[in-house]
Amino acid sequence: MLNIVLFGPPGAGKGTQSHHLIQKYNLVHLSTGDILRGEISNGTPLGLEAKKLMDQGLLVPDEVVIGMISNKLDQNAAAKGFIFDGFPRTVAQAEALDQLLTSKNDGISGMIALEVDEEELQKRLLIRGKDSGRPDDQNPEIIKKRVAEYTSKTAQVANYYQSQHKFYAVKGVGSIDEIFGNIVKVIEELTK
Ligand code: AMP
Repeated sequence: MLNIVLFGPPGAGKGTQSHHLIQKYNLVHLSTGDILRGEISNGTPLGLEAKKLMDQGLLVPDEVVIGMISNKLDQNAAAKGFIFDGFPRTVAQAEALDQLLTSKNDGISGMIALEVDEEELQKRLLIRGKDSGRPDDQNPEIIKKRVAEYTSKTAQVANYYQSQHKFYAVKGVGSIDEIFGNIVKVIEELTK
């Protein structure tokens, strides 16, 4: 199976590139942000709790997102592989994901990290906020909080995969096609 963690700060282009990747490789896209927004629009108790944190730019508790991913893996048992987008965001989540996949005799093929500088990220998020209507993209203070969460809790997840020799950095600036081409090169190496 091809299991890719697409990594990067908010606004790096993970969602856009995920959509291209699932088409090319016939994978299932698992975005914890999308799943949480689905819970919010369905008005579920989980969604209502998560919304309070998401609106402040804070991470949702590990056990909540790990449970969601575990359910999705079970629901897609016949999948050819997964693109994990926005997950894992903490080392505890990365460890839990390894355990879940190991229990299915599977594992992460590689982490692909999209690298974009902070100024460009702020610009992209404010533009995305206008188009997507996502409240957490529209307020510069919330964006700052999300970037702070990324720096304090999520950035270390790269080291976790680096220590497993599964870390690949890709420049996240340029045209969508160019960036996609560079991601595909990494995947071709992984699947050789
Ligand atoms: P995203 O769409 O990936 O930018 O996620 C939007 C928001 O959902 C984040 O700012 C968090 O509040 C929450 N969220 C998404 N994925 C996770 C995760 N893996 N762990 C904790 N919180 C998450």
